[in-house]
Amino acid sequence: MKVAIVTGASRGIGACVAQGLAEDGFSLALTARSKEGLDQVAKKIKESNHKGVQILTFPCDVSDSKAVNQMVETTVKKFGRIDLLVNNAGMSKTGTLAISTDEFDEVLSVNLKGPFALLKAVVPTMKSQGDGTIINIASRAGKIGFAGWGAYAASKFGMVGLGESLYRELSPMGIRVTTLCPSWVDTDMAKVSTFPANQMLNPEDILKSIRYIMSLSPAAAVKELMIECRAHLA
Ligand code: NAP
Repeated sequence: MKVAIVTGASRGIGACVAQGLAEDGFSLALTARSKEGLDQVAKKIKESNHKGVQILTFPCDVSDSKAVNQMVETTVKKFGRIDLLVNNAGMSKTGTLAISTDEFDEVLSVNLKGPFALLKAVVPTMKSQGDGTIINIASRAGKIGFAGWGAYAASKFGMVGLGESLYRELSPMGIRVTTLCPSWVDTDMAKVSTFPANQMLNPEDILKSIRYIMSLSPAAAVKELMIECRAHLA
C-alpha cells in the first residue's frame, strides 16, 4: 500500500492532486478545515472506484500543531506508513507594511508554521521507513518579493529555506524533498489576479510535476521546481 497525506485537500490544487494520487493507487489522508469540502472530494474519488484505495478525511486547521499531530498519528495508525506528504495548505493575503501584526502572524502561522508542524510530525515515520517523498508547495512569490505581497512572500521565502535545509538533511537518508514554486494557478486563490484564467497554470500542472518528481530514479534529487506562466514572461 502507498500512502499520501495531502493538506489543503478540500479544493484547488490539493483536491486535484488527491484525485490524481488516487488514480495512481495511493491511499489518502486528506486534511483542510472544511469537513464538507473534504467529504465532497473523498466522495468524488470513491465514485471513481480506484481499486484498494482507502481515504481518511481529517478536518483540522494547519496552524493548530496539536491537531496536525493527531492527524498524522491517526494516519499512521490506519495505514501503517507515509510515502508522500504534499504540504499544500495555504492562504494568501496582500499587503506588506499595510497589514497589521496580527494579520502578518496569521499568514506565517498558516503558510510557514503549519507546513513546519506537518514536517515535524511526518519525518520520523519516513526516517524509520528509510524512504518517502515530501513536496512543499511554496510559490514563485517564495523566490521573488513582489510589491504589495510582503507577508505572503515572507511566508513562502521561509518555506523555500525550510525546504532547502531539509532537502540537505534528508536526501542522504533516502527521503526526497522538493519545493515547488509555481506562478499563478487557476484556483480560488488566484481570483485576485488580473491575468486571465487561460494564461495561468492549472492544478493538473502541479499534479504532473509531483508525478514527474516521483518518477525519477532514486539517484535523482530535485531541490526546487519553479513553474512560471509563459504569457507573463514577456
Ligand atoms: P485554494 O484553492 O484557496 O485552496 C487552499 C487550500 O488550503 C484549501 O483546501 C483550504 O481549505 C486550505 N487551507 C487554507 N487555510 C487553511 C488552514 N488554516 N488550515 C488548513 N487548511 C487550510 O488555493 P490553492 O491555489 O489550491 O493553493 C494551494 C497552495 O498553493 C497554497 O499553499 C498556495 O499558497 C500555493 N500556491 C497557489 C498559487 C495560486 O496562484 N493559486 C500559486 C502559487 C502557490 P479550507 O478552506 O477548507 O481550510
